[in-house]
Amino acid sequence: MKKLLFLLPLLAIFSCTSEKESADLLVKNATIYTVNSNFETAEAFVVKDGKILEVGTSTTLEAKYNSTTIFDANGRTIVPGLIDAHAHLLNLGISMQQVNLVGTKSYQEVLQRVVAFQKEKNRDYIIGRGWDQNDWEIKEFPTKKELDSIFPNTPVSLRRIDGHAMIVNSKALEMAKITAETKMAGGEVILINGEPSGILVDTPMRLVWNTYPENDQEFYVKAIKDAEKKCLELGLTTINEAGTNRFAIELMDSLQQSGEMSLRIYAMLTKDKSNLDYYLKKGKVKTDRMNVRSVKVWADGALGSRGAAMRDEYSDQAGHHGAMITNEAEMDSLAKRIAKAGYQLNTHAIGDSANISVLRVYSDAVKDIEDPRWKVEHAQIITPLDFDYFSEKILPSIQPTHATSDMYWAEDRVGSERIKGAYAYKTLLKKSGMVALGTDFPVEKVNPMYTFYAAVARKDLENYPEDGYRMEEALTREETLKGMTIWAAYSNFEENEKGSIEVGKFADFTVLEKDIMTIPEDEIPNVNVVATFINGEKVYETSK
Ligand SMILES: [Zn+2]
Repeated sequence: MKKLLFLLPLLAIFSCTSEKESADLLVKNATIYTVNSNFETAEAFVVKDGKILEVGTSTTLEAKYNSTTIFDANGRTIVPGLIDAHAHLLNLGISMQQVNLVGTKSYQEVLQRVVAFQKEKNRDYIIGRGWDQNDWEIKEFPTKKELDSIFPNTPVSLRRIDGHAMIVNSKALEMAKITAETKMAGGEVILINGEPSGILVDTPMRLVWNTYPENDQEFYVKAIKDAEKKCLELGLTTINEAGTNRFAIELMDSLQQSGEMSLRIYAMLTKDKSNLDYYLKKGKVKTDRMNVRSVKVWADGALGSRGAAMRDEYSDQAGHHGAMITNEAEMDSLAKRIAKAGYQLNTHAIGDSANISVLRVYSDAVKDIEDPRWKVEHAQIITPLDFDYFSEKILPSIQPTHATSDMYWAEDRVGSERIKGAYAYKTLLKKSGMVALGTDFPVEKVNPMYTFYAAVARKDLENYPEDGYRMEEALTREETLKGMTIWAAYSNFEENEKGSIEVGKFADFTVLEKDIMTIPEDEIPNVNVVATFINGEKVYETSK
């Protein structure tokens, strides 16, 4: 008691004379979905050294802290930095180094896009893909004449949408040593007036591919940076890279270390011998922005091309069952090796046969591991009884836009019975207590708002079907936001550092133009990102 009386005057003096506490950033006047365990909202928070220091109201935090920077959200909505739990960042970046010609309405438009692309990228060899003369007014193959006049010295090669034909300029023909005399079985060099027109069909295209420049380090750096930019513009702060290698990991890590890359990466290794020999021996690799602790395996193919491994024959192809890419025996020995190294195993499984194989292998491999969090990537078609294999040890990592991309034809493949266990996101959530959500870009679009919309509304971007696709498997908005933040983080063993706006976590957050938790459902896909922050730093802000 005596001690306390003695201390009181001192405290009073201290609080009168002390200055405000210092912080790096104050974020105020926002509707903040903190995604903490009670799913509470807040109005403001402060950041110091890249981490959340305190969450509260604008007035109290403004009074308490002296912040170097203030971000006034002007009533906008803030969510924890969005995570894509299954994507291919490098592949997206590589595709961005080529001219995208999908949807062009004329050959003139093709040329315009090529010129605009080259103005920005200045590539030694221009490669493009996606034109379709059937979409043009003049439904004929183009010729190299215009390409030659625009690009007399730079080789250009533009593939048709189906990949079976290409238009090239004279420089590209010259490099590939293709002349009017070039004859190849299984293809054709199309001639006009006895000279190559620039159109190559099938096999001669190989001669052109052989002259493509080899991608150097500079190319990959450009690819990563371009893809990162796109992700930041759409509010993503962490990407789960689903299948990568030491070269890409070390390149991304070096960019992160030098401050040239902000995005955080959870990197899944492919099962290549060199990857496994190196990393499983080395153990987990973890920095603030790079997390290597998992291996990605492909159990089977895709449903669209009937490569998914099914227990019974396809409903639209008698006698056909698809096929396993990695059989159960190989998966089993891999699983034991990976478990021993303390790594997670994340396996692509689409068909019901692939899924049960993976689930059996997992159950056996993790039975003595307390907290393995092994993931089934896609978990697309599951036999009803097999859902019970999913638990807090075996987690589903799913892509809601797959449901709305496949819904037009999926039932043709598997029939009206098996479809009940397909894209069954709510059922999976009930079994595991969580779902990690992603897109699989560039297979699907990058925009996480499409994921959000597909998960809650189960409609495509034309708002079809009107009542949603098998709505018993829809997720609530709260579940969806968790799946894109805290649950995705949990599936990466990162829930103590990200996935919610809570004291001590990285200040990764996304500022949205509208409140996705309350606006009419059909407005969700059009919601824009106002700003994206990683580690308390603004890495994107809209100019609108
Ligand atoms: Zn994928």
